[in-house]
Amino acid sequence: MKKISKQVLIFVVFFILIGLLFSFASGAGKKVEDISLEKLVTQITNNEVASIEVNKEILSIKLKNGAEQKSRKEPSESLTELLNNFGVTPDKMTAVKIDIKAPSEGELFLLNILPFVLPIIIIAALIWFMMRGVQGANNKAMMFGQTQARDVNKEDKVKTKFADVAGASEAKQELTEIVEFLRDPKKFTDLGARIPSGVLLLGRPGLGKTLLARAVAGEAEVPFYSISGSEFVEMFVGVGASRVRDLFKKAKKNAPCIIFIDEIDAVGRRRGSGMGGSHDEREQTLNQILVEMDGFEVNSGIIVIAATNRPDVLDPALLRPGRFDRQVFLEAPDLASREAILKLHAASKPLAPEVSLHQVAKRTPGFSGADLANVLNEAAILTARLNHSAITMAELFEAIEKVMMGPEKKSRIITDEEKKIIAYHEAGHAIIANFLPGADPVHKVTIIGRGQAGGYTLKLPTEDRHLHPKSYFLDEISVLLGGYLAEQLVFGEVTTGASSDLRRATDIARRLVTDYGMSPDLGLRSFGDKEELIFMGHAAHDRDYSESTAERIDAAMIGFINLSRAKAEELLATHRHKLDLLAKVLLEKETIDKPEFDQLMKA
Ligand code: ADP
Ligand code: ZN
Repeated sequence: MKKISKQVLIFVVFFILIGLLFSFASGAGKKVEDISLEKLVTQITNNEVASIEVNKEILSIKLKNGAEQKSRKEPSESLTELLNNFGVTPDKMTAVKIDIKAPSEGELFLLNILPFVLPIIIIAALIWFMMRGVQGANNKAMMFGQTQARDVNKEDKVKTKFADVAGASEAKQELTEIVEFLRDPKKFTDLGARIPSGVLLLGRPGLGKTLLARAVAGEAEVPFYSISGSEFVEMFVGVGASRVRDLFKKAKKNAPCIIFIDEIDAVGRRRGSGMGGSHDEREQTLNQILVEMDGFEVNSGIIVIAATNRPDVLDPALLRPGRFDRQVFLEAPDLASREAILKLHAASKPLAPEVSLHQVAKRTPGFSGADLANVLNEAAILTARLNHSAITMAELFEAIEKVMMGPEKKSRIITDEEKKIIAYHEAGHAIIANFLPGADPVHKVTIIGRGQAGGYTLKLPTEDRHLHPKSYFLDEISVLLGGYLAEQLVFGEVTTGASSDLRRATDIARRLVTDYGMSPDLGLRSFGDKEELIFMGHAAHDRDYSESTAERIDAAMIGFINLSRAKAEELLATHRHKLDLLAKVLLEKETIDKPEFDQLMKA
């Protein structure tokens, strides 16, 4: 907008200047009296006129007293003829010096040519301006690509070492080879070995993919270039590709080195499956990455490490030999690794002597390295707010829950009626969890809200498990329905508080049928293609089954849910007195820990 108005301004100024030029040329600038022809005639007969200069139809008159005047005649009529017609006698006429001025050659030229040439000049100027505008935008796009690539994060001296990554021993082992190569490529090339040029780190966020990639650079003491796939997805088509080119060019100059591409799934999505949007841009960027990687001379000393948590959506072209043919999977840390990660991050924090990081690790199954680091940080913040000098178990447990569910909402005002409903709802979950052998044991029940939840029942698995039997899932569904069913049983009505429970229960039931083949009447197969298309933020499964199968899947899901529901209803009815007792204690104390809970259940 600003640019356009500036151009318009230039044009306006241009025209005003031309206008002024013309008016000066025609002498309109001087202060000259305009007189009628009759007056001129009178002046001539009165012998007042000294000279008349005739310039086509304009008569410039000089009087004997020095004054200047101006008048007009018809251009076709000659002045003498005119004066004659007005009855000026020839002797009076001869007394006046009449100077007929023919237009100069330059003037003639301008007057004849200008009307044709001027529009052409104006149009040419317009086109030129417009072209310049477009070029400017292009230039900016190019510069944009470069500036972004220029601030690609380059670290010459990475201090991260493998010792800074706790656990993840398999991943470290895989990557040690890469480190050895970067340190001493000759050892490998002498034996004719082809070193992988691409390594793909797979795992959900927070598992330490970036950390590991940096550790590889740190161990090998080579520069580390990092860029995120999501940064590539810019608005100008072609910018991403130019940035990739630029990045690899810089890397080649500094080889051996590491290029780290975070979130490669942002550009490396299966081609042809994108829906709308910056599809083209992604494809070009991805193609450029592939071209660059294919263009490596064997053993060029550049190793590209890419990270993603969505291996299922990656373009198969990325995984071909010579590209990201090494894949390193990162899993959620197990008990020992969690303890190691906690130790690492606790090193800089004052812990009270009784603190057992082993206990903290036991309470945090499924936590990623980033979550654990966050737990220690939150615990330190809590300790500081309490003005204590060392972190105790209480702060650590509080921090675990905060990381898991969001901060406590003690100040939220709830009515007594609501409080009662929440107490029964949570008591419902807890009772079912307690009496079902397959479900995870209860560690804490509370009616103090946290994050989205009004209250919650904290259950933790006794050990890290990777395989779960069908009964585990059915029991989990029962526990999830426990809150809803307790409300139903006690108040004869349910509230909106059960919605997320229902969603999770439905999700488990769906997985039982579609992913785990645990429904006997649907046969041993999975349903729904795992290649998901993300559309408007929702994962839309590719349906690889018929409409009638879809109906059977729905029926099977409902079947599982009803089975779990019946079990839960039965348990609640049998243990109604325990339900009432738990709800009563919850209303009094708001929070019940595992020992007290176990005590109550035994009584
Ligand atoms: P990702 O790239 O997989 O999302 P990051 O490498 O960014 O994860 O990890 C985030 C943070 O979590 C790290 O900076 C580190 O503090 C912590 N972390 C994750 N995994 C580990 C680990 N195995 N050992 C120590 N710290 C870890
Ligand atoms: Zn609930």
